[in-house]
Formats: sequence, structure tokens, C-alpha cells
Amino acid sequence: MIMKSKNQAPISRTASAHMQRVKELPCSVCDEPGPSEAHHIRQGLHYTTVALCPSCHRGAGGWHGTRIMWQIRKMDELAALDVTLARLADPSVAGRGAITEDWMARRKQSCNSN
Ligand SMILES: [Zn+2]
Ligand SMILES: [Zn+2]
Repeated sequence: MIMKSKNQAPISRTASAHMQRVKELPCSVCDEPGPSEAHHIRQGLHYTTVALCPSCHRGAGGWHGTRIMWQIRKMDELAALDVTLARLADPSVAGRGAITEDWMARRKQSCNSN
């Protein structure tokens, strides 16, 4: 099935399948469990979509609102995309906090032990 976006460009089956996987992830900003929405950083670029819950996406404090929820967590679109892609690669990856602190600390330890 070929889906069409608002602006005519047809979405390929592969891009559509990719976004479906993104939508199954938890929110990349607040870790709210999925299903999430796929936020396009740039319209028409389907492989750089970010998994967001409705509040962090379209809510009053979300990306398309005041972005206060993003500011509290010191997130921007690229940081959120990083979380989305990390989780696509390994669903056990926790939120950004875990990546930057716990995960990095463990990675550092394994480097030091060499
Ligand atoms: Zn959220
Ligand atoms: Zn959006």
C-alpha cells in the first residue's frame, strides 16, 4: 500500500515500515511508553523521524508548542533522533539520561579496563 502525505510525495513501502517501527518506540524525550508519533525533523525525510508521545509532539509544551518539555530535559531534535535510532538498534536502550550517564559510564569503564 502506498500512503500519501499531505504534500503529495508518495511514501515508499520501506519508509512507511521504518516509520511504523519508530511509532512503536517510547517517547524519545520523556520515555512515555509507545505507541508514539513519528515527528519529521524535515518534511518529506522519513528516515529522520523522531518517536514522540502526543504531549512532547503536539502538546502545549511540545515541539510544535512552547517546547518547554524539551527545554526541561535539555533535548533538541537531533538529541531526540539519537535516542530514537539507538532504540531502533537496541530496544533495551533507556532514555537519554541513561545513555549520557549510566551507559557512558559503563562504556568508559570497559575502555579503562583495557
Ligand atoms: Zn513525551
Ligand atoms: Zn511533528
